[in-house]
Amino acid sequence: MGIEHGIELVYVLSAVCFILALYWLSAVPTARRGVLTGVLGMALAVGGTLLKPEIVSYKWIAVAFVIGTVIGVPMAMMPMTAVPQRTALSHAFGALAAALVGTTEYFLRAGTPEMDRFTMGALGLEVILGFLTFTASLMAFGKLQEVLPQRPITYKGQNFVNLGMLAAAVAIAAYLVVAPGSRALFLLMSGLALVFGVLLIIPIGGADMPTVISLLNSYAGLSAAAMGFVLNNKLLIIAGSLDGSSGLILSIIMCKAMNRSFTNVLFGAFGQVAPAAAAGGEQKTHRSASAEEAASILANSSSVMVVPGYGMAAAQAQHKVRELYDALTRQGVRVKFAIHPVAGRMPGHMNVLLAEADIPYDALLELEEANSELPQCDVALVIGANDVTNPAARHDKASPIYGMPIIDTDKARTVMVIKRSMNPGFAGVDNELYYLDRTLMLFGDAKSFVGELVKEVDAQSAA
Ligand code: NAP
Repeated sequence: MGIEHGIELVYVLSAVCFILALYWLSAVPTARRGVLTGVLGMALAVGGTLLKPEIVSYKWIAVAFVIGTVIGVPMAMMPMTAVPQRTALSHAFGALAAALVGTTEYFLRAGTPEMDRFTMGALGLEVILGFLTFTASLMAFGKLQEVLPQRPITYKGQNFVNLGMLAAAVAIAAYLVVAPGSRALFLLMSGLALVFGVLLIIPIGGADMPTVISLLNSYAGLSAAAMGFVLNNKLLIIAGSLDGSSGLILSIIMCKAMNRSFTNVLFGAFGQVAPAAAAGGEQKTHRSASAEEAASILANSSSVMVVPGYGMAAAQAQHKVRELYDALTRQGVRVKFAIHPVAGRMPGHMNVLLAEADIPYDALLELEEANSELPQCDVALVIGANDVTNPAARHDKASPIYGMPIIDTDKARTVMVIKRSMNPGFAGVDNELYYLDRTLMLFGDAKSFVGELVKEVDAQSAA
C-alpha cells in the first residue's frame, strides 16, 4: 500500500470519527465520548495531511503550529459563560483560513489550465463565504463581549444596501467562472464579502447573536467544503458538509425554540427598546421572602421543579444547586430540573452546567415533560431564569417574546424566583410571573442565595 492509500485510509477513519462524534454529542450521557472522538478525528485528519509527499519542509508548519497553540490554549480557558463569543472567534479563524487558502489558490492558478470553471466556481464560493464569515464572526464576538454596542443599528434601505452588496460579490464570482483572469475583480469580490460580513451583523441585536453564530458556523463549514473541491480533498468536503449542515440544524432548533423565523432573526432588528414596555406607568406589586422562609416551604413540599437560567450560569451557582438538590432529596422531596432549549446563552448551556455539578441526567426534564408535571408541583424554583418563564409569551401579542414556548412555572402551587433585582432578562421585557400572588421573589446573587437555602434546609432538618 502506497503512502497515498495510507492517507486515504486515515481520512476515512477520521470521517467516521467526526460522524460518531456528532452522534454521541447529541445526548448528555455520551457527550464526553463525542468530544474525545471528535478530537481523535481531528488528530487523524491533521496527522494524515502531514504525511502528504507534497510537503517539502515542515518549518512553516511548525511555526503555524506554535502560533495556533499560543492562541488556542488561552481561548480554551475562557469561562463557560463566554462560550458563545469563544465559538465566534473560532469561526472567524477557521473562515479566514479557508478564505486565505482560496485566495492563494486563485493567484497560483489564475491564467493556468488548472483553473477550470468548476474549480473557479468552488473557489468563488469558498472565498465569499470565508471572508464574510470572518468579519461577521468578529462583529458577533464584539457584540457578545460588549466591546461593540449590543443594540441593533438600523437605517432606511439597509436590507437593500446589504443584499445589493452580496449580489454584487456573487455576480463577480459568476463572471470569474467564465473569465477567471481578472485579478482586480477577484480582489473587489473579496473586499465586498469582507464589508458585507460587517454590515450583516450591524442590524442584529446581541440577543440573537448565539443563533447568528450557529448560522456562521454553517457558512464556515460550507466554505471549508468548497475548499475541499478546490484542493480535491475528500475529508474537507465531508467535514465541511457535516459542519455546514449541523450549524444549520442547530440554528433551526434555536429559531423554533424562540418561535422566530430565520428572516426575523437576520432582518428583524430584535432587541430594540420596545416602546410599549417602556411606557405603561401602572404600579405593580411583588412579594419577597427571606432564605429562611423559602427554605421552610421547600423542605415541607413533596415536589420541587428547579428552573435554571442565565443567572445560574453567570453566578456559577451549579455546585450550590447540586448541594440544594442533595439537601432536599435527603428530606424526601422529589426534585426535578426543567430545561428550556434556549435557557442561558447557548444551546445546551444548562445541561452542561448541571452535568458539571454531577446532577443525575434522569432528573433533567425537557420542556414538554416539565410542563406536564408543573401543575402537580408544590414549588417551581426559578434560579436566574427570566424570559423562558414569562407567561406574556403565551398571550401578549405585543411582546417581543410572544409565541416562544415557555416553562409553565405559573402553574405550580408556589413560585420562587432567585435573582438580584426586578430587572428584565435578555429580551428586555418585564416578567408577569413576578407579580402573581403565589410568587415569592428571593433577591440575591444565585450562588450565595442558594448557599443560604442549603444551610437553612440542613438547619431546619437538624432541629
Ligand atoms: P434571561 O431572560 O436572560 O434572564 C436571566 C436573569 O438572570 C436576569 O433577569 C438577571 O436578573 C438574572 N441574573 C443575572 N445574573 C445573576 C446572578 N449573578 N444571580 C442571580 N440572578 C442573576 O435568561 P433565560 O431565562 O435563561 O433566557 C435566555 C434568553 O436568551 C432568552 O431570551 C433566549 O431567547 C435568549 N437566547 C438564548 C440562546 C441559547 O442558545 N440559550 C440563544 C439565543 C438567545 P437580575 O439582573 O435581576 O439578577
